Amino acid sequence: MKVRVLGCSGTIGRDSHTSAFLVDDDILVDAGTGAGRLSLDEMCSISTIFLTHAHMDHIAHLPMLVDAVSTAYAGRPHTMHVWALPATIEALRAHIFNGSIWPDFSRLPSPDAPALRYHPIAVGQTVEVAGRFVEALPANHSVPTVGYAVRAGNWRSPWWVCSGDTGPCPAFWRRLVQMNVGELAIECAFSNRCEALAQLSLHLTPNLLAEGLEMMAPDADYPIYIFHLKRAEVPLILSEVADLAERNPHRRIGTARIQRLRWGHVFELAGDALPPMPETMPMPLMPEPDLNSAFSPVDIHGGR
Ligand SMILES: [Zn+2]
Ligand SMILES: [Zn+2]
Repeated sequence: MKVRVLGCSGTIGRDSHTSAFLVDDDILVDAGTGAGRLSLDEMCSISTIFLTHAHMDHIAHLPMLVDAVSTAYAGRPHTMHVWALPATIEALRAHIFNGSIWPDFSRLPSPDAPALRYHPIAVGQTVEVAGRFVEALPANHSVPTVGYAVRAGNWRSPWWVCSGDTGPCPAFWRRLVQMNVGELAIECAFSNRCEALAQLSLHLTPNLLAEGLEMMAPDADYPIYIFHLKRAEVPLILSEVADLAERNPHRRIGTARIQRLRWGHVFELAGDALPPMPETMPMPLMPEPDLNSAFSPVDIHGGR
């Protein structure tokens, strides 16, 4: 399984594009301005999009991507499946695909064979897309938000984890302790000097990230990539992340394992997608049993 970074910046600018990650060639995680790097052929290969939340930097290219693919498939049935929290779907219906800002592609070209079909997802739910498994993870942001973990093959395969936008979120880190994480992309939008703003808008700073890293399993040793950095804050954030190593010499949270994510980066994880099916319909699954953990999925999501 491969995950190609199309955009991972917290703001736009030349060579800076916002969140979009292409899993193999058919799954998109978020549809920020990074999705604009795709060719029409690449866009037409996408069957399924998972959205973390409704903020503009994560959905900016969704309307025009759906339009471009719909036009390319003119006269032939093709549906783009969009998975998101119910609140995200409602926001898209009310404020974007509302017939005023953009056409309602969930009813076009026809209600029976629309260009876009919404699927609600819940934290803890896993969806299979042709042999790739996508789990919605807890997040703590100013609007309802999830992160995603994606793996291919059987349940032993490593997960690629993407936090989505989040402030401090112990439930996220508790779930990671249960998983075989291969690589982690975690947001770190602001520097420590902006902690008040980060707390207000529910994003992370290096100090807040360090609190989360303390919740990692003691033997966790996977690479960590920070993304969603606000462009003007990048030098300061990077120097503060470097300082984490000196202030926490007993932990492995130094620069050796924390890198800045850049667009074009390709995560390669063990496990392959299944051969393409003629008309693949994503199916919701129950969470996989986790034999390595004392936690149950109910525990991390505020149940028993
Ligand atoms: Zn956001
Ligand atoms: Zn964002």
